[in-house]
Amino acid sequence: MEKTKIAVIGAGPAGIGVAVEVKEEGLAPAVIVEKTTHACDTIVKLYRAGKRVDAVYQKVEIVPQGRLSFTTESKEDFLARMDSLVSGHALDIRYGQECHKIQATGDLFQVFTSAGLQLEANIVVAAIGIFGRPARPVYPIPGEIRDKVLFSLPRELPAGKDVLVVGGGDSAAEAACFLSRENCVTLSYRRPDFFRINEANICTLNGYCCTGKVKTKMPSDIEALEPEDGRIKVLFKDGGPLSFDLLFYFLGGSSPRVFLENAGVKFIGKRPQTDEFGETNIPRLFLAGDLALDKGSIMGAFHSAHLVKKGILRRYRDLVAGEET
Ligand SMILES: Cc1cc2nc3c(=O)[nH]c(=O)nc-3n(C[C@H](O)[C@H](O)[C@H](O)COP(=O)(O)OP(=O)(O)OC[C@H]3O[C@@H](n4cnc5c(N)ncnc54)[C@H](O)[C@@H]3O)c2cc1C
Repeated sequence: MEKTKIAVIGAGPAGIGVAVEVKEEGLAPAVIVEKTTHACDTIVKLYRAGKRVDAVYQKVEIVPQGRLSFTTESKEDFLARMDSLVSGHALDIRYGQECHKIQATGDLFQVFTSAGLQLEANIVVAAIGIFGRPARPVYPIPGEIRDKVLFSLPRELPAGKDVLVVGGGDSAAEAACFLSRENCVTLSYRRPDFFRINEANICTLNGYCCTGKVKTKMPSDIEALEPEDGRIKVLFKDGGPLSFDLLFYFLGGSSPRVFLENAGVKFIGKRPQTDEFGETNIPRLFLAGDLALDKGSIMGAFHSAHLVKKGILRRYRDLVAGEET
């Protein structure tokens, strides 16, 4: 497992802002994990070409007190600004690494990505924005069974159900094992072998499969879902249909709330609980950018990056001192 003092999840304005702030402060450099192949995916994907990027967004004026700011400019100029921050500060961004789990173990965090990167960090800053969504299957989910088709584990574990878990990554493996404590679980994956699951999870899953607690159906490709007497009829391309009470998809991606709650972050109503520096109820786990703001904006993201750095300096300076300090 690779070690770093500060791990940042997400290379949007907030994540890049945090990395720049800590670097310019002379603290240990942050490692950023970014799920796409480029920085600022929200701006790249959701802003139309030539869009004006407003420095005052939705009438909320924020004057960032940190090192980053900008004046209203085009999408393309803004992205060029962010790219030059990344190269100018030689930021360590690991692209194509979607973080699916942050786990606190004692004084350290373990950060796991779906591409297999594992980081051990003293401090984690989640800056994944608010636009994440779990991936959905290509075929429709009929309205009659929508309440039985889930994309994350519910707060209350179901019991005594026939459950199908679909997916071939760590989240699918972990959910299958967890659900099998009280349910009859089948794990369906479209490939003949698992190749994205980390060693610890594959070991646990093999144990559950050997004792018959989890059945696997591999390779198996689902063609369609149909309602059937209050259950879900799953039509496979390569074999007869099977019926289940509940179906869980773990096809990658997750909503920011599920992601944070899985890491242990508490919510007050719809908002994650944070203090004035963006630190959550879990010491050394900070939120920056849209995740930490009531009304998100780029200036807000830059300012929140500054506040996170201030909190790190005030509370954890000794943990993150750079070589030169
Ligand atoms: C259409 C539109 C127009 C807007 N116009 C303006 C404007 O003119 N001015 C303005 O100030 N604001 C504007 N905003 C809001 C602004 O884009 C956001 O407030 C800002 O992008 C928030 O930055 P962030 O870094 O918190 O999150 P994001 O910009 O959403 O960045 C999050 C990053 O994290 C990555 N990520 C997500 N999940 C994971 C994961 N699990 N693992 C690793 N990486 C992950 C994403 O790929 C992304 O690169 C607009 C928003 C939209 C949708």
